[in-house]
Amino acid sequence: KRTHTRLPEWLKTPIPTNDNYKRIKNDLRGLNLHTVCEEARCPNISDCWGGSDKSAATATIMLMGDTCTRGCRFCSVKTANKPPPLDIHEPENTAEALSRWGLGYVVLTSVDRDDIADGGARHFAETIMKIKQKAPTMLVEALTGDFAGDLDCVSLVAKSGLDVYAHNVETTEELSPSVRDRRANFKQSLAVLRAAKAANPSLITKTSIMLGFGETEEQLWRTLRELRAADVDVVTFGQYMRPTKRHMKVEEYVKPATFELWRQRALDLGFLYCASGPLVRSSYKAGEAFIENVLK
Ligand code: SF4
Ligand code: SF4
Repeated sequence: KRTHTRLPEWLKTPIPTNDNYKRIKNDLRGLNLHTVCEEARCPNISDCWGGSDKSAATATIMLMGDTCTRGCRFCSVKTANKPPPLDIHEPENTAEALSRWGLGYVVLTSVDRDDIADGGARHFAETIMKIKQKAPTMLVEALTGDFAGDLDCVSLVAKSGLDVYAHNVETTEELSPSVRDRRANFKQSLAVLRAAKAANPSLITKTSIMLGFGETEEQLWRTLRELRAADVDVVTFGQYMRPTKRHMKVEEYVKPATFELWRQRALDLGFLYCASGPLVRSSYKAGEAFIENVLK
């Protein structure tokens, strides 16, 4: 049962309507491209797809199927030890469809595939290379898992021609064991972000933190400092929303003013930019932010 009635006012969202959103949605028909934006009914879809110009429009695509080998306590993706094999045509088909869709910025993400020797790193890299061949001006962000700490896999993706390498630490080091799958941990995630930058120093590296798990201010400060020390360029903050009753409880609905405070603190610590707000997801208006802060 949904618990919408008990949500604070700032988490209730309007239905998207603007023209650019409608145009981009229309272009999507017949492309056989499945966006996380639509499938997860993301409340930001009109902000991300409907900005003032299409060259900054952002969408998120899920690669490697819909079944994850892990089970994080905040996530509603279905899980199995042995998901179906990869679709070897996916890199080509995704690149082809994206180039025809013609949006400005794509975030490629995936479930974790601990059942595959390279965790799907080659599949990721191939998709990115094909997108850059077919649509050289499209900006590409890869939001990957931790490849079980295999930094060669990280390096392969980091050198595939992408613009932004994202990997989410999700929460503070202290809360990681109770929030994330037991195969994930904060230090391993930090190593992934560090390795991406080391493999390709021209990359922007990015991570995302959810608030509302019961993290303390002190823990968050430490998290941000460690991320900066690992040369992470961009951080985002959003509210944890409980997908179902089987998932972790929300400890706190963090107020919009507190999100703004953390945005300021992140900028003061030297992050290049920071999206922070109750409805922010790691890909929130990523195209616009990249164009404003990196290209200009
Ligand atoms: Fe899509 Fe991410 Fe934007 Fe949501 S926040 S609409 S998933 S790009
Ligand atoms: Fe969800 Fe990612 Fe965790 Fe899999 S690894 S359960 S997709 S958050």
